[in-house]
Amino acid sequence: MISVTLNKERCKGCGLCVEVCPKQLLQLDAKTTNDKGYHPVMITDSGSCIACCSCALRCPDLCIEIREV
Ligand code: SF4
Ligand code: SF4
Repeated sequence: MISVTLNKERCKGCGLCVEVCPKQLLQLDAKTTNDKGYHPVMITDSGSCIACCSCALRCPDLCIEIREV
């Protein structure tokens, strides 16, 4: 099983990870604001993640961790 961990407090809502996900599983959560004042990233269907790690590699703030558990 693939585990996707998103550090929502560190996220600055830049959307770079959203753009690179080949499965279009990531989006910015308009309903949530973190302590920095940004809408953080969320995953819509973690069960469809293929663990390509594109999002984790693209995030400049190291907010995303992909693991096989
Ligand atoms: S690891 Fe790949 S498929 Fe999974 S959320 Fe990140 S970019 Fe999308
Ligand atoms: S690339 Fe990183 S900082 Fe930017 S939205 Fe995605 S998780 Fe947040």
